[in-house]
Amino acid sequence: MTIAVLSDIHANLEALDVVLEYIERCGCDRIICLGDVVGYGPNPNECIERLRMRADRVLLGNHDHAAIGLTDPMTFNRYARQAIEWTGETLTPSSRKFLQQLPATCQEESCLCVHASPYAPLDWRYISSVSQAALEFRHFDEAFCFIGHSHVPLVFCLRGNRVLRLHKSSLQLERQARYIINVGSVGQPRDGNPQAAVGIWRPQQRIYELCRLDYDFQTTQKKMRTLHMPAYLVERIAHGR
Ligand code: ZN
Repeated sequence: MTIAVLSDIHANLEALDVVLEYIERCGCDRIICLGDVVGYGPNPNECIERLRMRADRVLLGNHDHAAIGLTDPMTFNRYARQAIEWTGETLTPSSRKFLQQLPATCQEESCLCVHASPYAPLDWRYISSVSQAALEFRHFDEAFCFIGHSHVPLVFCLRGNRVLRLHKSSLQLERQARYIINVGSVGQPRDGNPQAAVGIWRPQQRIYELCRLDYDFQTTQKKMRTLHMPAYLVERIAHGR
């Protein structure tokens, strides 16, 4: 069994298509999307349609939640807010319906999946440090938890009562340890690498690998400029920041 885990597509169709082609080539049996299908990018309806056809599970992200009017856009910075407002006006009724029925969490094999954090999935907390990860490990029972939200790939490992941050993109998952794994972002990476990210998990072999893929971000940028999206959002996808 091979499972692809992806997150934070952010309406970037060029990045999503490259990731979906890669998943196909890898012969993945299942596709799990951890949310934020929309927000920031120019193709929210198209990305929803792709995932509706291809993904086995799609979770709710904070931008999805805001685009359908369930989070106050004032809680976002002005660039994100502008994108959320545009997305809200652009969603078709069927896309809106799709986002409305997304769950906040799911279980897959020995794993919990959630957009932001296991402790309070709809509070949209970030898990960026060892101390935050230590707290979160107390709030789920599964061996691992896959997350997205920060757009920065990270692995936290709990061995005994010690939490470590692992700087590896490929892991043999230890039986005695537990993990929180951030799979990074398909459509707006923020770790300094503009390539689209996707996690490939082989539960029987206990192997996890984060793959990075080139995509044509110039085309995405051109679409964003045509739609008069904020220059800051257009520029950042070229730099992965
Ligand atoms: Zn996001």
